Amino acid sequence: MRVVMKFGGTSVGSAAAIRQVAKIAVESHHEHEVVLVVSAMNAPDLRTTDTLIAAAKAAAEGDGDATAEVAPRLLAMHMEAAAALATPSDCATLEVDLRSMLDYLSNLSRSIAILGELTPRALDLFSGLGERMNARLIAAALRGAGLDALALDATELIVTDDRFGMATPLMNETREQARACLQPLLIGRQVPVVTGFIGATKAGVPTTLGRGGSDYSCSILGAVLDADEVWFWKEVDGVLSANPKLVPEARTMERLSYSEMGEMAYYGANVLHPKTVQPLVQRRIPIRIRNTFNPAHPGTIISAEPGSGTAKAVTAIKDVSLITVGGPGMLGLTGVAARIFGAVARAGSNNLLISQASSEQSVCFAVARTEAAAAVAELRAELANDFSAHDVEHIGVIECTIIAVVGSGMRGTPGIAGRIFGSLGDAGVNIIAVAQGSTENNISLVVAPSEGDEAVRAIHRSFSL
Ligand code: ASP
Ligand code: MG
Repeated sequence: MRVVMKFGGTSVGSAAAIRQVAKIAVESHHEHEVVLVVSAMNAPDLRTTDTLIAAAKAAAEGDGDATAEVAPRLLAMHMEAAAALATPSDCATLEVDLRSMLDYLSNLSRSIAILGELTPRALDLFSGLGERMNARLIAAALRGAGLDALALDATELIVTDDRFGMATPLMNETREQARACLQPLLIGRQVPVVTGFIGATKAGVPTTLGRGGSDYSCSILGAVLDADEVWFWKEVDGVLSANPKLVPEARTMERLSYSEMGEMAYYGANVLHPKTVQPLVQRRIPIRIRNTFNPAHPGTIISAEPGSGTAKAVTAIKDVSLITVGGPGMLGLTGVAARIFGAVARAGSNNLLISQASSEQSVCFAVARTEAAAAVAELRAELANDFSAHDVEHIGVIECTIIAVVGSGMRGTPGIAGRIFGSLGDAGVNIIAVAQGSTENNISLVVAPSEGDEAVRAIHRSFSL
């Protein structure tokens, strides 16, 4: 198989973690063609990307020496790991490379301080440096473990537009460039170690794909290389059926479909962002979430297959406001829903859930609590005349929690909603509103914030997820 695999910042955050990564790479390479994509080192006391961005900002405020304190710390952190894992000669080369990168950064911070301005383009040069340092370190560690590994900057592979800080890949150009560079290496049984997070424009100007962008880098490369599978190595065994802090008996799910993953990400579960994996979903490439620190666990596989089971996971979104617009004159009042949601959109709020009973006397929808006041103000302006005519009589706002039950097997299976409502009734949880889209992938319930945790536990229990 051809496997493109990504290691996040914590998975490469220390010498011990990188030793584990090297072990995984060696074992995977026995059986597969392997490409690694790596984030910047993320140690609890030195978060590389955050630190680089802070230095760039200090430079823009006029501190020409903004990197003076952090550059030696970054150098020390990388070299300490290298000393434990790479050969002495690789360590020597690495140190020269890292020093020259950090020197470049200090020159850049002087220029930024003189200009007194930090453009998104200059910030990308700063923030992407962590990945460039780390790819070189990881490649050296892999060589120390006996692999023929090679560090590559994704500026040579991933071609993007010029939206600095949040660039979008140009897939055709990327395909051509990445394949031309990586295929011969893979055929030669080499192991490319590619920087996550960064790319470059057609003209070769470095860009970044947005914070947390290494997952996206991995998907892009998996897609253009026609990988058989793409693995995301994280610090958990896989995707869980509920938040383990709330539900101690939460389980790692063996299998999820792409759409179930999308639903879960939307409802705040810590899985991959749907946009990030879109290149893989489009090509039907299976995704695996695995645990760097427990590689014997098979993890969760996410693919086009629906898998088995009805309800698979239950999640909660907190800090939500439920806004209700109601009045006797709303029955048959054409266009009122369009005007309500138009107003909400003008306020810049995002609807998390919408529900209207067929009596048409009220419409309710949920937005993030921080967005509620603006949405209500915009609604009052929009509906001023309807209020005078008493068609609309109230706009209510309550704090709430949304509980979402996800699972594509719920489609066409009778009795699921009954079981959910029954379990909440038994637990004494009152349901304020309900929404289920006709895709039946997801049933969402609105409950009081004080009952949210119990609702999650009760539903999890009743499906023994
Ligand atoms: N290092 C980058 C960040 O912290 C990218 C990533 O980790 O995915 O945002
Ligand atoms: Mg990250």
